Amino acid sequence: MVLVYAESQDGKLKKSTAEAVTYGKKTAEVLGMDCAALVLGSVSDAGDLGKYGASAVHQITSDGLAHFDSQTYTQAIAKAAEQLGAKVVILSHSTTGKSLLGRLAVRLNAGSVSGVNSIPTNDGGTFKVNKNVFSGKALAEYAISSDIKVMTLSGNSLKPEESGAAISVSTMEVDPGTSRVRVTDVTLQKGDVAPLPEAELVVSAGRGMKGPENWTIIEELADSLGATTACSRPVADIGWRPHHEHVGQTGVAIKPNLYIAAGISGAIQHLAGVNSSKCIVVINKDPEAPFFKAADYGVCADLFEVVPKLTAAIRKAKA
Ligand SMILES: Cc1cc2nc3c(=O)[nH]c(=O)nc-3n(C[C@H](O)[C@H](O)[C@H](O)COP(=O)(O)OP(=O)(O)OC[C@H]3O[C@@H](n4cnc5c(N)ncnc54)[C@H](O)[C@@H]3O)c2cc1C
Repeated sequence: MVLVYAESQDGKLKKSTAEAVTYGKKTAEVLGMDCAALVLGSVSDAGDLGKYGASAVHQITSDGLAHFDSQTYTQAIAKAAEQLGAKVVILSHSTTGKSLLGRLAVRLNAGSVSGVNSIPTNDGGTFKVNKNVFSGKALAEYAISSDIKVMTLSGNSLKPEESGAAISVSTMEVDPGTSRVRVTDVTLQKGDVAPLPEAELVVSAGRGMKGPENWTIIEELADSLGATTACSRPVADIGWRPHHEHVGQTGVAIKPNLYIAAGISGAIQHLAGVNSSKCIVVINKDPEAPFFKAADYGVCADLFEVVPKLTAAIRKAKA
């Protein structure tokens, strides 16, 4: 069986779970197995995972799972995988998934690959899967030879496919143990737009903005599109923007459908986190800016003139 851990937040499935279960179903087809999904804690729409190809949805609601903790979550997922006889465990390549991957691999004595982006093959019984390496400049093929395999799925690697209907959820009795970490408070960032790692539309800006007081035009452009805002590293380092907006090699790696970059030079360290975006639009007044080489569309002009015009055009088109 292929087991997909379906992440949730505020009692609802995260968007990335539809991708993960679609991927789990396709992996299960390659291996001639069933795909099951696992949710931890109370999740009201867990049965919807059936729509994306899960033939069973299991839920563990032990007290220790109310807040994410990599120790208790690892115990719960590993014990569920053992009880269900899972041969492949799939997680989203999120902060949560990344922190679980190594622990789970050790617990299950499994080979692991992080950030896979293709449906596995199993020709001649050799399980192979691809992932981006060298900051997205190359694609590597990994063969996993262990009996049990654990992988995180890179976001936006495939489109969620509805292939079934919602199904009933069965409860599993699993003791996740106790953690050495006690969560005393959780503050979630709330907003109307998707968080950066899950965003499909991103508007980003860099040092070309000259100062934090000028960011209104970026926020207005993002607002007109329903996009999430991001920034280059120096901008976060100077304190013009919050650190969670910093994208790149040392920041968040994103893969949106549209990435608009204004006043960002396109240094290799920045590109490392954004060059898997499906469509890149660069606004920069320097024709020699390296970002233009990575762009699908480039506007060589002053961003302070172009960005408000773009916002007005989008608002007009939407109206
Ligand atoms: C180990 C290491 C890790 C790093 N990790 C990251 C990372 O994760 N993310 C990251 O972003 N950087 C990272 N960096 C920094 C990176 O090398 C660059 O210095 C940084 O990305 C540059 O930011 P910027 O493009 O905003 O600024 P600049 O390089 O100063 O570029 C500003 C751009 O704005 C343009 N501009 C100026 N005024 C206007 C205007 N009015 N209209 C239009 N365009 C204008 C300029 O032509 C220029 O191209 C890292 C560096 C190191 C050494």
